[in-house]
Amino acid sequence: MYDFVVVGAGPAGSRFARQAATAGYDVIVFERGDVGLPLACSGHVSEDIWSFTPQGVRSSLLQHEIRGARFHLGGADSRAYPFFRDDPISNVIDRVELDRCLADAARDAGADLRTGHTVTAVTEREDAVEVTVTADGEQRTVQTRMVAGCDGPVSRVRTELGLPEPTERLHGVLGFDTGPDFESFVDVHLVVPTFFAWRIPRGDAGVEYGLAAPPRTDVSQRFESFIEEYGVSVTRTCSGGIPIGPPERVTSHRGFLIGDAAAQTKPFTGGGLVYGMTAADCAARNIDPSDPKSLDAYEKAWRDELARDIRLGSLIRRSYEFPTPIQRAGLRATCGRIGVHMDRPTTLFSPEQLKALFLPGRTPEDQ
Ligand SMILES: Cc1cc2nc3c(=O)[nH]c(=O)nc-3n(C[C@H](O)[C@H](O)[C@H](O)COP(=O)(O)OP(=O)(O)OC[C@H]3O[C@@H](n4cnc5c(N)ncnc54)[C@H](O)[C@@H]3O)c2cc1C
Repeated sequence: MYDFVVVGAGPAGSRFARQAATAGYDVIVFERGDVGLPLACSGHVSEDIWSFTPQGVRSSLLQHEIRGARFHLGGADSRAYPFFRDDPISNVIDRVELDRCLADAARDAGADLRTGHTVTAVTEREDAVEVTVTADGEQRTVQTRMVAGCDGPVSRVRTELGLPEPTERLHGVLGFDTGPDFESFVDVHLVVPTFFAWRIPRGDAGVEYGLAAPPRTDVSQRFESFIEEYGVSVTRTCSGGIPIGPPERVTSHRGFLIGDAAAQTKPFTGGGLVYGMTAADCAARNIDPSDPKSLDAYEKAWRDELARDIRLGSLIRRSYEFPTPIQRAGLRATCGRIGVHMDRPTTLFSPEQLKALFLPGRTPEDQ
């Protein structure tokens, strides 16, 4: 019997598998496809990402460094309200390679990671969990003390364990223009209901255009209009779900969810890479596969770590729906140099942010 069956080798699953295997547990990971594919992510992350990757991979994954974001209330030609720092605020990385190097690290730590294996059923018993998996047309069932659902926004494990759904799921779409762009600002356009469209310079890897919105809105058509305004055509479009709002419970008797399966994402950007791996570490530190009660410690630990930032992030997102004159006044009053951490809205109240507010040269006009 395994200690942990991990379903999904995305960042959350591979990070948990690596940490659990390092702790000496017997871990198997089932991934239904190829690691990292298909791509459905911008890979725009804070520098914190490097605390979760193996040493020495930064230079091969990093595509570009970002210093700030320009907010717009309209499309390509609308007025920009810049928020920036003097040092890099975030990194744009190769997301496919990120997944591959996290999976390699899990294997190196001793986890058995199998691609082309789809989990189709999970049955919890008092002393074990039965996980049914299909590969090459063959079906088999394995026994494990615990199952980790790291299978993304549409989580089979979540359904099988009867755990509640996230509050909502946005639909994101993105596409790439191949011309190199080394600008140090991303552009954020508040032009869609409840969320935004974006433009991300990716250095030699070109420029990414994207948009996310609730599924009831016509996401594809809005994306087409958005890139038309920029006057570009994109290749390689892709799309995916963005879960927002973690459910009340992400643990069952012998199962638990990590990452997008648990909606451990930033409500104001949809980013889930750093939050998912933060929660993976909470799981690895707290869960003892022989003791179902240890799942309570995981629920507490990840919420202690992330819940305040998720709550504040939800409040920030509400401002995307404010009437335009109020948004304009708010952006005009607050734009300029900032001291916030992009994953931590609670740093809006930090000494760094206060210092940034009162330093000379704060607004773009002062520069
Ligand atoms: C358009 C878009 C842009 C985004 N941009 C950013 C960004 O810039 N920064 C950021 O931090 N986040 C971003 N995100 C979010 C980010 O991609 C997710 O938060 C992250 O991928 C979650 O990681 P995960 O490991 O939980 O899930 P996933 O990466 O979705 O991995 C889940 C894995 O489980 C596998 N799987 C699913 N079902 C099964 C099954 N039944 N059996 C076996 N395997 C299974 C899948 O094949 C997949 O490999 C974006 C998302 C979208 C849609």
